Amino acid sequence: MSNNNFITLANAGIAHLTPYQPGKPISELEREYNITDAIKLASNENPLGPSPKAATAIQQHLHELAIYPDGNAFSLKRQLAQLHAVDEAQITIGNGSNEILELVARVYLAPGRNAVFSQHAFAVYPIVTQACGANAKIARPNPFDHDQPYGHSLENMLACIDEQTRVIMIANPNNPTGTWLTAKQLRHFLQAVPEDVIVVIDEAYSEYVSYADYPDCSLWLSDFPNLIVTRTFSKIYGLASLRVGYGLASAVISDLLNRARQPFNVNSLAQVAALAAISDQDFKQQSIELNQAGMLQLTQGLSELGLSPLPSAANFLSFKVGESGTQVFDRLLTKGVIVRPIDNYQMPGYIRVTIGTESQNTKFLQALAQIL
Ligand SMILES: *Cc1c(COP(=O)(O)O)cnc(C)c1O
Repeated sequence: MSNNNFITLANAGIAHLTPYQPGKPISELEREYNITDAIKLASNENPLGPSPKAATAIQQHLHELAIYPDGNAFSLKRQLAQLHAVDEAQITIGNGSNEILELVARVYLAPGRNAVFSQHAFAVYPIVTQACGANAKIARPNPFDHDQPYGHSLENMLACIDEQTRVIMIANPNNPTGTWLTAKQLRHFLQAVPEDVIVVIDEAYSEYVSYADYPDCSLWLSDFPNLIVTRTFSKIYGLASLRVGYGLASAVISDLLNRARQPFNVNSLAQVAALAAISDQDFKQQSIELNQAGMLQLTQGLSELGLSPLPSAANFLSFKVGESGTQVFDRLLTKGVIVRPIDNYQMPGYIRVTIGTESQNTKFLQALAQIL
């Protein structure tokens, strides 16, 4: 049989899928260009590394590697239930919060159904939707002259909902734009969405947001039985490599998500590290402060280069560098700096840079100044 046939034999959604493009690893760049001291500001990871308490917890549990993890993540769930004042039955632990998105898609999407999300939203939404053979209904974003340029337009998203819509996915703040939605806007939206449409609010960067009108949507779960809130340990907690995140929802929805997941989807080191990281308030605070200082440093530095980033509530900035973000990305690579071109988010000419340590930010700004 020819290879082409194997493609046509695949489920249609998968056969037409464009794979997610991960950030380039530092080791690969250093090998390719024969350089050292490269920095990666490409995947919105925590420049401080993992919470030290999480690292210690991992060392203490290494002897458990031969044993299957606790499939119900008992201790982690108990801690999260306390943190969010929800019942343990309302929690689904995922292999990264991306797995929660995938579970939602597998539970609620199928051919003939659709998911609504915004243009320029997180790249995983179209992937999980299409992988289930469902349709994506892509809402027009805010125009560029809006105070949240290219951000989600909840009005346009509402207008996309039809009889076949089962899921809506919203990132707050959104990646790669950095734009965010206020409590008032989101509550109003949730009140307007039909009760039988699931709304996922992805709060991967919530811990970084300092605006008073930014909502913690986990507090609204009892008001909206169709709401799912996702959180992650990959960003502020610095545990991206361990793959652990979670979803909060009604007990009924959570039960369905838990039925669909693999029995041992989150490994034991991820569970103990996440548990330790939650209680490491000092590390969290330090991460927030470093991010705020870095946000100022980068905004100022970019402005001196005549560049103005989109307003961001998260730990990254996106801005237009010219005709091709990929071209600037390639030239930054030669200087040992990995960022993210976001041409593939229909934002041609844009790159996204993660806010790093002071010295990483300086290195990035100097490299960018040399290129431009
Ligand atoms: C980084 C990111 C995540 C995190 O995914 P994990 O699977 O938890 O690592 C989720 N949503 C958005 C919008 C992100 O940018």
